[in-house]
Amino acid sequence: MSDVIAAPPQPRVPVHGTDQTFPVHRIYCVGRNFADHAREMGAAVPASQADRGTPVFFLKPADAIALQSEVPYPPGTQDLHHEVELVVALGKDAPAGVLDPNDAMALVYGYAVGLDLTRRDLQGAAKAKGLPWDTGKAFDHAAPISAIVTINGETRQRGSLADLIWTVPDILHELSRLYALRAGDLIFMGTPAGVGPLQPGDRFHAVLEGIAEHSGTIVTGRTV
Ligand code: MN
Repeated sequence: MSDVIAAPPQPRVPVHGTDQTFPVHRIYCVGRNFADHAREMGAAVPASQADRGTPVFFLKPADAIALQSEVPYPPGTQDLHHEVELVVALGKDAPAGVLDPNDAMALVYGYAVGLDLTRRDLQGAAKAKGLPWDTGKAFDHAAPISAIVTINGETRQRGSLADLIWTVPDILHELSRLYALRAGDLIFMGTPAGVGPLQPGDRFHAVLEGIAEHSGTIVTGRTV
């Protein structure tokens, strides 16, 4: 058997401080994981952890990963937004069934900082009609990301990450109820408040304090 077309390239993210790479399987994203961001988007904010319901998940294609410093402004939008997020990289497959939160951190290979780039106008129109968010979230170059940093031991909870409505073990547990988590999965954990528009020519510098940083420039892309 042979392929009828050239095999698409495997998306890969460099591992910081090495000449090795992390091949990407899927990109899961968490919506509304910080109360202050949910509030700024006009969404309901749970009164307590007990009222948080279930997390909001969406996906981006693996090849939305953008490693280059020049990120093209995407077609089809007048309102591209940045969302700076902790990215969790899984280095092991989850066992079959629902993952116990106490076992979840054993799957984590490392962390990166990423941008969940969003065509906010398309997302807003979809939300208003109760339609899927895909065109607003899942597009070419929609996931700029730093190199992956490996950290031994426990998750470092820093500053604003303490305000996550759903922690990393919570999210891995909830995802495992819906999907078979695999080595190579990336999880964008959601953004705190302060999202805003990007224009061609704008530079961005995303920092996950003490762990990773990533910078680049939005350049004029394909016009539709
Ligand atoms: Mn996001």
